Amino acid sequence: MNKLDAELSLGLLQEEGYKTVDTVEGADVILINTCSVRQHAEDKVYSHLGALKALKKKHPEVIVGVLGCMAQKDGESIFKRMPHVDLVCGTRMFSRLPELLLNIKNHGSHVLAIDEDHIVNVKRAVTYRPNFYQAFVTVIRGCDNFCSYCIVPYVRGREISRTIPDITQEVQALVSGGCKEITLLGQNINTYGKGLSGDITLGDLLSALNDLDGLERIRFVTSHPADMSRDLIRTMSRLEKVCKHLHMPAQSGSDRILSSMKRGYTAGYYRDLIAYARELMPHMSVASDFIVGFPGETDEDFRETVQLMEDIRFQNCFIFKYSPRTGTKAAELEDDVADEVKRARNMRLLELQKGISLEENRKMIGRMVEVLAEGTSKSDSNKLTGRTRQNHIVVFNGSRELVGKLVNVLIYEATDLTLHGTLA
Ligand code: SF4
Repeated sequence: MNKLDAELSLGLLQEEGYKTVDTVEGADVILINTCSVRQHAEDKVYSHLGALKALKKKHPEVIVGVLGCMAQKDGESIFKRMPHVDLVCGTRMFSRLPELLLNIKNHGSHVLAIDEDHIVNVKRAVTYRPNFYQAFVTVIRGCDNFCSYCIVPYVRGREISRTIPDITQEVQALVSGGCKEITLLGQNINTYGKGLSGDITLGDLLSALNDLDGLERIRFVTSHPADMSRDLIRTMSRLEKVCKHLHMPAQSGSDRILSSMKRGYTAGYYRDLIAYARELMPHMSVASDFIVGFPGETDEDFRETVQLMEDIRFQNCFIFKYSPRTGTKAAELEDDVADEVKRARNMRLLELQKGISLEENRKMIGRMVEVLAEGTSKSDSNKLTGRTRQNHIVVFNGSRELVGKLVNVLIYEATDLTLHGTLA
């Protein structure tokens, strides 16, 4: 979501005649888009801002702005801590960036724009994208779930869905520009449709997009187990353009911890959902997020998380050590799991997942897979890289003319992160 918001902001400014430059020193406007999910991300932003102090002193006309979740959360206090910042622009106000920058130019510094109820309405300049063959498309903003550890509902506001015609029009324009794969975005995408008139669901949106000529692949993130319906799983299995890959964070395998996290499901419910999805889509891949060291997490709770990971056999997982976020419910609980225990649990899950990924990826050897060629491989500039529908990363031989095309690749080798193949 942050990547896309940055891309949309850039598109808006380019429409107004702004151009990107390669160095901070060459810029008239410096904007930092921020994340609040973890303390570490915020610390980095303040460190970047601190480093800009000298430049701003030398060139007071340069505009320095903070965008996104941290801007929404910290608001006015950013000006107090970093007086050289000119603009603080929250998660729902970036569509007004050109006007806000003009305001600073004409009337001076310290412009605060953090209206939470503002409807983000960006007329997307579809040409301003990192590549022509893939695009993110926001379909619902905000989250109403309030998981006890999460800052997102406080910084991204309540759920607001875009209408199907609005989204279809945007995707159609992207496809006309050569886009083959779209990823629909929502903090909690399974509740898409809430608040729209009629009984609209994510399944309806997927069905509408599946009919678009020229579009080849549809992905959607992030799924919340409590809001993931069996109806949606059936729709997903039925629509050929919807990639059979699910990113559905489990967060923990312990019902006690899941309840304390206010996730609204049990580990058993999660297992049943995956079993049902795999029954309909046997080759489907599943990715998850886990938090280790949540307040009160015992060895037994952790053992249940290990068990869930072993049972489900995820394709890949993002594993985080719990860190309290001020303002959330969990921050009121004692952060009582020692850091070395968090670290050890983190390592244990990473190692376990690595082994599972390797075993699962090795099963792909000898198979032919469809890959959307994305560009030159970082590890070998003579090769290309891309992804399968199940979201495996594949490195294969091929020339740059194939970038943006769907190709078939025969897999001959696998590591835990990558499949290696030959162009068929
Ligand atoms: S559903 Fe996701 S975004 Fe919403 S509160 Fe829970 S973790 Fe945060």
